[in-house]
Order: sequence, then structure tokens, then C-alpha cells
Amino acid sequence: MMGRLNVRGQSYAMPGSGHGDTVPFESLVAGALGMGRLHRGAELVGLVIYARHHDVARELVTRLAAAGSALFERKGWKTVYCYGIAEMLVFELLWPRRCVDCKGDGEYSVRYTALGEQSVSRKKAHRCQRCNGTGRGDLSQREQARVSGIEQSRFIRTWAPRAHEMRLMMLGWEEDCLRHLVRHFDFSAEAG
Ligand SMILES: [Zn+2]
Repeated sequence: MMGRLNVRGQSYAMPGSGHGDTVPFESLVAGALGMGRLHRGAELVGLVIYARHHDVARELVTRLAAAGSALFERKGWKTVYCYGIAEMLVFELLWPRRCVDCKGDGEYSVRYTALGEQSVSRKKAHRCQRCNGTGRGDLSQREQARVSGIEQSRFIRTWAPRAHEMRLMMLGWEEDCLRHLVRHFDFSAEAG
């Protein structure tokens, strides 16, 4: 259900607050993330991406590294690089690249001709598989290796797919966060 909240940077009038008093969207999101029982990892991801609270980035790295270590231990992989990989993944969140497949839209349209309809071309939106609908692109493997503190050929040979497992874990936290926000704000159309 990964979707994006396309309302970043907007402000909203609070009911009963009088004319012209608006609250930045980031503040509303930060407040909403603190309500209910969202787990801390998902809350931190949300604060970084949607509320631009870059001051919690260090805590997110620590938490991601710990969760990554537990994941790697279960798989029988060395955990020595988990902290560096976590730093790299949070770096990707803080300074996102645009996904090359969907150009940052999170989805792309495909033209097709419906069966039985002659020369009627329709468009259908597909969630981008490459970025899981986030619109964010990864760093190049060379950059990932450098930011993770892993020698490049070693990273490409062994650690890139493992780092991706951790990225998927973090995307899961982002989905938890989005689900929470959708429930809170009823953004059903934006992040379905
Ligand atoms: Zn994409």
C-alpha cells in the first residue's frame, strides 16, 4: 500500500482558528505520528520524510542498525557493517534521488487497447516496482559502498543485496507510518 502524501509543504486552516491561521502540514504530521501506538521505528521514518525532523536522523540510524543486526543474525550474516548500512539508508532518506523508472512520480502509466474495443487506447497507472511507489531512487552502488564504509568490490559482491534487505525493512516501517497517517487524516485517495 505504499503511496505518497502529495500534500507536503501545504498549510491547513485549523477549524475555529479564525481567518488566515494555518498550521504547516509538517506540524500536523509530527503531531499525528505521536498519537496512537505507532512503533518508534515507523514514527522516526515518518518524522524524517514527512515532517522534515532531521534532528531524529541519528536515532533512526541507531534503531535501524539494531533491527538490521537482528535480521542479519537470523540470516547468518555478519553484523559488523549494519551501522554503516543504516547510515547509508538514512542518507538516502534525507537527500532523496529521483527514481529513474518513474521520474519520482511513484507510478507510471501504460497505454493499452482494451479487448474488444477497436482502436480505443486507454491509460492505466501502475505502481512503480523499482521504488515501491515512493518515487525515491537509491544511491549508485559505488556511493552506497562509500557511505556504508564498505570497500566497493566487497560491497557489490556481498553486501549490496544484504543492504537492500535492510532497505526493504525500512520501507516496511514507512508503510506502517503511512497506514497510520492515512487512518489519522483519512487520506484514502492519496495513499491507497
Ligand atoms: Zn519509481
